[in-house]
Amino acid sequence: MYQNICSHAQDVITRRTAVRIRPIIPANNPANNRITVALLELAQNGLYCAAGDFYIDPWGPVDRAIVTHAHSSHARPGARSYLTTLPGQRLLQAQLGPEAAIQAVEYGEPLTMSAARVSLHPAGHILGSAQVRIEHGGEVWVVSGDYKLAPDPTCTPFEPLRCHTFVTESTFGLPIFRWPAASEVIEAIHAWWRTNQEAGRASLLFAHPLGKAQRLLALLDPSIGPIYTHAAVDPTTQIYREQGITVAPAQVAEEGPWSRALILAPPSAHGSPWERRFGSASTAFVSGWMRIRGTRRRRSLDRGFVLSDHADWAGLLRAIDESRAECVWVTHGYRAPMVRWLEEHGRKALAVEARFEEDEP
Ligand SMILES: [Zn+2]
Ligand SMILES: [Zn+2]
Repeated sequence: MYQNICSHAQDVITRRTAVRIRPIIPANNPANNRITVALLELAQNGLYCAAGDFYIDPWGPVDRAIVTHAHSSHARPGARSYLTTLPGQRLLQAQLGPEAAIQAVEYGEPLTMSAARVSLHPAGHILGSAQVRIEHGGEVWVVSGDYKLAPDPTCTPFEPLRCHTFVTESTFGLPIFRWPAASEVIEAIHAWWRTNQEAGRASLLFAHPLGKAQRLLALLDPSIGPIYTHAAVDPTTQIYREQGITVAPAQVAEEGPWSRALILAPPSAHGSPWERRFGSASTAFVSGWMRIRGTRRRRSLDRGFVLSDHADWAGLLRAIDESRAECVWVTHGYRAPMVRWLEEHGRKALAVEARFEEDEP
């Protein structure tokens, strides 16, 4: 296999890149006598694919970056050129600024990058989010970025892909993380909103301003009362609208009355002077972390609603299972518990210390 790779692509793989492609564990897979060849390595600036000469979600300056989605810990400035999906392009441009050189492709559109075949596939995390499928010398790797399997009207559903090595996040990689259905959570938010209206107080709902806020705007019932957003939520929501995503009408919160209103704001606005204009308001947070008892009280919130844009424990295991991967790389979140669990269940797994920080506040 190693021989094959080099001869197959001898005109494009330089000596420098060829030596980087090396067998990883298992060096020999007794099941089919296949030699596993690493298509990615953890380099100083991020996950590097030598066969294709590109990085995925790099954290340092590089020439070519493929970006899985526009959240700040995956989409960082400093690359000479970026590649992402068409539905994610405007969000990425907003994140990186007008100077960033961004190319975009359709989901599933095959590309040749040096010696590798590359395509981007839906990850179901936020608008435009992608898994990166890399194929080279008969070897297929999939980098899933951040993902969820639960339905979300604001983005294309997660596409299960078969591969030899599956690179996964593990943000909520503990068995305690189990998500209720989104419809149940939305019902609970509606009930909280109505109760606040009866008491004559505003409903302040904190959520990630990119992805979660727009998902909420797509799911909430605007007939209950007026919906407003914090100024930090509005530009992203406009991009969603321009991409044809249907979300509830919402104005930037400037003038009341607020007693029947629901206001969507980023978590950083909680406890800020901005909050004072709403007078006596009920505060709530929408996040997977609300599944942990005590989080709500520690953050001085009246309510917590469990809704995440990441897979829960069962979702992570299902995605890993459906990939049929021989080996799993775990890049961020609860890396060690996930690796341990996978190894205990007969799978080869590796904790890879990628610098993708938390993106569910
Ligand atoms: Zn993310
Ligand atoms: Zn992430």
